[in-house]
Amino acid sequence: MTATRVLVLNSGSSSLKYQLLDMRDSSRLAAGLVERIGEQTSRLKHTPLASGGDAREADGPIADHDAALKAVAQELSRDGLGLDSPDLAAIGHRVVHGGMFFTEPTVIDEAVIAEIERLIPVAPLHNPANLTGIRTARALRPDLPQVAVFDTAFHTTMPESAARYAIDPRIADRHRIRRYGFHGTSHAYVSRATAELLGRAPEDVNVIVLHLGNGASASAVRGGRCVDTSMGLTPLEGLVMGTRSGDLDPAVIFHLARVGGMSMDEIDTLLNKRSGLFGLCGDNDMREIRRRIDEGDEAAALAFDIYVHRLKKYIGAYYAVLGTVDAVAFTAGVGENAAPVREAAVAGLEGLGLAVDPERNAVRGDRPRIVSPDTARVAVAVVPTDEELEIATQTYALVGKNT
Ligand code: AMP
Repeated sequence: MTATRVLVLNSGSSSLKYQLLDMRDSSRLAAGLVERIGEQTSRLKHTPLASGGDAREADGPIADHDAALKAVAQELSRDGLGLDSPDLAAIGHRVVHGGMFFTEPTVIDEAVIAEIERLIPVAPLHNPANLTGIRTARALRPDLPQVAVFDTAFHTTMPESAARYAIDPRIADRHRIRRYGFHGTSHAYVSRATAELLGRAPEDVNVIVLHLGNGASASAVRGGRCVDTSMGLTPLEGLVMGTRSGDLDPAVIFHLARVGGMSMDEIDTLLNKRSGLFGLCGDNDMREIRRRIDEGDEAAALAFDIYVHRLKKYIGAYYAVLGTVDAVAFTAGVGENAAPVREAAVAGLEGLGLAVDPERNAVRGDRPRIVSPDTARVAVAVVPTDEELEIATQTYALVGKNT
């Protein structure tokens, strides 16, 4: 293939994130973000990485995703990287929910769009936004291959015992209720990069991946295949997150409705947007929480402890699921940066072969690294995630195969 560039688009309900990569060396040519699409205060921030120039910011109303992508295309043209360039091989789209249907990255056509649309009931916030990005990009470059890379795909290898909830399967199947998992692109990338860090083939290692960003999820990966993950039908299940509660007794919801008099929408907002670290202490940024703990703030300290307790339970659970573990990999904003979270999460787990070396753990960096002592049976690693690179790699591989 002579065209070697891939544009990665991550389209949210009011935002559009993008990166343009050159797949000859996986280098980033440009990156940016359009925020608050549809409002008066929209903002486009574009960083021309290839030229090393300064980031450019433009404020002013951007009515919809169509206008946003056209504005992005204009910025790229200014850098000589326009979307009309013959060097552009494909556009890769992040799509949150691929259900059970999409187990792999998929070249987008009308049938694929219809299937993503059919999944809207299980991903009412994300899939419509992703579809808007797809439609807009197809309208702009109808001739160009476009690929959907699904957050759920990596988890479709989970056995039924992990993927099913213990409810009547007829009801579950009718409503497509099962554990799908999310952040799959990150779990795939990080589990592979961890094997590489250990100098072994992905097929030969068992890894627990802890993706701790504002959203957070854990996965158990056996020989490169996901066998369990902490998010479920939606991203609400599992770990304590920035604003999501993660696991709770489902009867809490009945209780809030019956006794608390809350509507379903109010409960949905409470659990997704006003819970987790934010709900517990009013902050969802781990930096701020650590600062408050240092000042003796008790609510922040309790929020941290609840967060770490849940994390530790998942490490234990996935250890049991895997039987033997070669590495525990921390990734995303909190996992890559918050040394105290890593330290607290494995504290007391020496019996399982897990420990961090305080000096190694304190070193900051953007390269994959091992933070456990050389003597530890299980490697504890920090492995920066790169979802855009993974989407671009999968997109380019698929388009290369088809041309
Ligand atoms: P992400 O969703 O992966 O972008 O992660 C965002 C979260 O990472 C933020 O909400 C912070 O809680 C956390 N974070 C980012 N940088 C740091 C840092 N230097 N120390 C601790 N936490 C951080």
